Amino acid sequence: MSRIVAAEECTALGATQHTLEAYPNRDVSLGHLTVTRVLPIRDRRMIGPWCFLDRFGPLSFSGDKPMDIAPHPHTGLQTVTWLLEGEVLHDDSLGSEATARPGGVNVMTSGRGIAHAEQTPRQNSGRLNGAQLWVALPDAHRHVEPSFDGIERVPLIEEPGGLAQVFAGSLGSVSSPGRHFSDLVGADLQVHPGSDLSLDLRRDFEHAVLVLDGDLSIEGEPLLPRMLYYLGANRSNAAFTSRTGGRALLIGGPPFAERILMWWNFVARTPEEIAQYREDWELQRRFGDVPSYKGERLAAPELARIARPGAMS
Ligand code: MN
Repeated sequence: MSRIVAAEECTALGATQHTLEAYPNRDVSLGHLTVTRVLPIRDRRMIGPWCFLDRFGPLSFSGDKPMDIAPHPHTGLQTVTWLLEGEVLHDDSLGSEATARPGGVNVMTSGRGIAHAEQTPRQNSGRLNGAQLWVALPDAHRHVEPSFDGIERVPLIEEPGGLAQVFAGSLGSVSSPGRHFSDLVGADLQVHPGSDLSLDLRRDFEHAVLVLDGDLSIEGEPLLPRMLYYLGANRSNAAFTSRTGGRALLIGGPPFAERILMWWNFVARTPEEIAQYREDWELQRRFGDVPSYKGERLAAPELARIARPGAMS
């Protein structure tokens, strides 16, 4: 039986050589929070196993919490929440409760299915600045049992010209302790004013860079804000320079060998799977509850609607 599901098909860019291609970010409005959608890029591509990237903030707030995402389901992916400032409280259907803070990372493995809520905690700094990324799980691992890793402090590489906080996978000889199911890297790079930072990269990875703050150039080419720069593959090194100091996300991995389907909060392989996951959420099967969240859970969109994921959803 074939179903009409308006899912987005995503594949890795998979350049075999160096390149420097700029893909513009776009704003997505979610209630009173505007976020910047970086991935999937408009022609529906991923970077290694990274299939989704939203940038939120920097912003200041008082009163209403800027982030309040009611319980919703995920399948076939990991969420990786990385903060530059502020706090995000995570509650899930396994009973995990963890507040993400700068310098630490939350890695949630949905595997076969999990539900979670994400919100600004009552006790907060009045600042929000960060990113949420999704990693597609390879077919051999996409039905694993769900799990959650809350890591308080990720490892770093320190050089005279800057530093790299490794929040996912490995960069050089440094590895983040969060569990992952394929090779990848996720790192927050900081280059000091008037300095350069040179990093060893894996030649079998494709990589991309997103400026978070300040100014940065790579091999003499200035990197603009609100652009994802795809660096291609077959690169053993990347050299960044900054005049006034700069900060960027670096993501990468081997070009993902599988075609994925993304719809709402699900990563799947077939429209039938997506229809099944949606039905399971609506009938309160598979995913479990998030009892610590006070309020209604999110309802699934209609299948025939293109349902792009929400920020932090
Ligand atoms: Mn979510």
